Amino acid sequence: MAVLCPACGREYDVTLFQFGRTISCTCGARVGLEKRIPFTPIGREPRFICDAMLGRLARWLRTLGYDTEYDDAIDDAVLVARGREEHRRVLTRDRALAKAWRVDGILVLEADDPMEQLEEVLRWLGLAFPDRLFTRCTVCNTALEPLDPAEARDRVPEKVHTRHNSFAECPVCDRVYWEGSHAQRMRRRLADGLAEGGVTSGPREPDGGP
Ligand SMILES: [Zn+2]
Ligand SMILES: [Zn+2]
Repeated sequence: MAVLCPACGREYDVTLFQFGRTISCTCGARVGLEKRIPFTPIGREPRFICDAMLGRLARWLRTLGYDTEYDDAIDDAVLVARGREEHRRVLTRDRALAKAWRVDGILVLEADDPMEQLEEVLRWLGLAFPDRLFTRCTVCNTALEPLDPAEARDRVPEKVHTRHNSFAECPVCDRVYWEGSHAQRMRRRLADGLAEGGVTSGPREPDGGP
């Protein structure tokens, strides 16, 4: 099956147009197979997938508890397809990517700084800053589970175990999380950064983890 350019009638092979992909015809017109593919969210919590450039933003979003997929080697077609199949909004800095697909739910971020990018995302979706941080593993995106302090004893430094009584663990990668001084600094930096819209440092490793 051939797809015709609406402007000049030139024919293109249908296999070029998966997932709402468009191409630029030699005449300059955009050629696409389908009408815009609408974005359908599931549930109340937004889900995201970040492009390969947005690893630090992905960690911030996970720190805030948002289900955020990230793969530093993902290519554009897979990124857009996964976004569509898993009902995730696609976050990118690449304007050309948004133009190349007729797919809703792609947000092109303006800022270079991860904190400002986070602010853009929250503003775009009208999301408030959550009370609880570290409900999701910042490394593998899995929801954390509470960890009994007795069980945490052998898995965190002794100093930490003495000082804290609330722990969580990632059931997939086994990292242990607790709200230590570093987490509190992160919380402050997030709150300040989002209030002022201008913090330049990004997230580091959270407290805990091997
Ligand atoms: Zn054409
Ligand atoms: Zn994990």
